[in-house]
Amino acid sequence: AVAATDARRREIHNQLVELKGNIRVFCRIRPHPRSAVQCLPDNLSIRLAGPDGKEHTFGYDRVFRAEATQAAVFEEVSDLVQSALDGFKVCLFSYGQTGAGKTHTMQGSRSFEGQGIIPRAIAKILESVVKLRDQGWDYRLEASFIEVYNEQLRDLLAEPVPGRREAGKIHENNAIQHQPNGGHTVVLGAQRLAIESDADAEAITRRAAAARAVEATAMNAVSSRSHSVFMLYITGRHEASGTQLQGSLNLVDLAGSERLARSQAEGQRAKEACNINKSLSSLGDVFQALATKATHIPYRNSKLTHLLQPCLGGSGKTLMVVNVNPEPESVQESLCSLRFAAKVNQCETAAKGGAQRSISSTQDWGGAGPLTGRPSLAP
Ligand code: ADP
Ligand code: MG
Repeated sequence: AVAATDARRREIHNQLVELKGNIRVFCRIRPHPRSAVQCLPDNLSIRLAGPDGKEHTFGYDRVFRAEATQAAVFEEVSDLVQSALDGFKVCLFSYGQTGAGKTHTMQGSRSFEGQGIIPRAIAKILESVVKLRDQGWDYRLEASFIEVYNEQLRDLLAEPVPGRREAGKIHENNAIQHQPNGGHTVVLGAQRLAIESDADAEAITRRAAAARAVEATAMNAVSSRSHSVFMLYITGRHEASGTQLQGSLNLVDLAGSERLARSQAEGQRAKEACNINKSLSSLGDVFQALATKATHIPYRNSKLTHLLQPCLGGSGKTLMVVNVNPEPESVQESLCSLRFAAKVNQCETAAKGGAQRSISSTQDWGGAGPLTGRPSLAP
């Protein structure tokens, strides 16, 4: 009888995810004294006038105004983050032009209030792991920190030996397609460090930040043209029942989405610009293929989408935070970002009257596993 109710619950859960989709898009407006972006009272939509004076309205699963604190943003993503403990493959992106607040959203600053999603997510997960231990669950957390630059992978946790940062190929652990809940991707040769405490987490993020800072000075602001991917591999085991869960949490600070002016796009810069456009547009292509339920999803067209394949589609969960700099000078770039997001989640509305999404403001992703007390998707 227990097994029968479990199966029924799982069915309901799967129907929920199918109904609402497993991709969400949030929009975050950074503070600016001269904001050209209007947040509508529903907290779900924004409005701005294009360069031609035409008004555009976009609707999202959630809009964060300039005043929104880091804690308020994390509050809205906390459930999603924790579902990785239930065996889901979860991915959060920050997207937007350079200066729009991507790194602020993901990493944030040192102060407690200033902490972004990465440190808050790790702290929350560690806290949950302790609670789940009382219920007989034993979790192991391992982190990698990868940078994708010019279609090459680099290990941000490697020992800082010049020339040694280049990481290997992407390896699909237990073939993604053949796992009921998706396999993992690992970067061969990249460090995978155990996280058992907040101190471990801090040491890891500090090491990655130092690696990026070295590059920033040596290689002309590489950071704005590369993606950084914090990957947390989560393995849970329930001793008594023998249940095993394999979740993952991927927190991605994407490259700046700005298009470089043609005159600048020469030599090395041109190659960089082209590749960034390529990997960001490959990401857009994957979302579009998923949205239209295409038979072929082009994961292999870029390193980034290949690396994140287990989270994109299938039983994975994705959230994109579109960061917007609301200054009048950036309206054109902002429209590009907002349109990209529309491609992700078909959220630009035709009418001027505000958002018309059928999805309500709730971010109920469904859930399963030890945290929710419901059966997991794992066998
Ligand atoms: P990006 O990573 O997109 O290039 P940053 O996150 O570095 O942009 O943000 C640029 C600057 O704006 C930083 O100094 C950052 O601290 C500040 N900033 C961005 N978003 C916010 C925000 N929501 N509140 C306060 N300051 C912000
Ligand atoms: Mg940044």
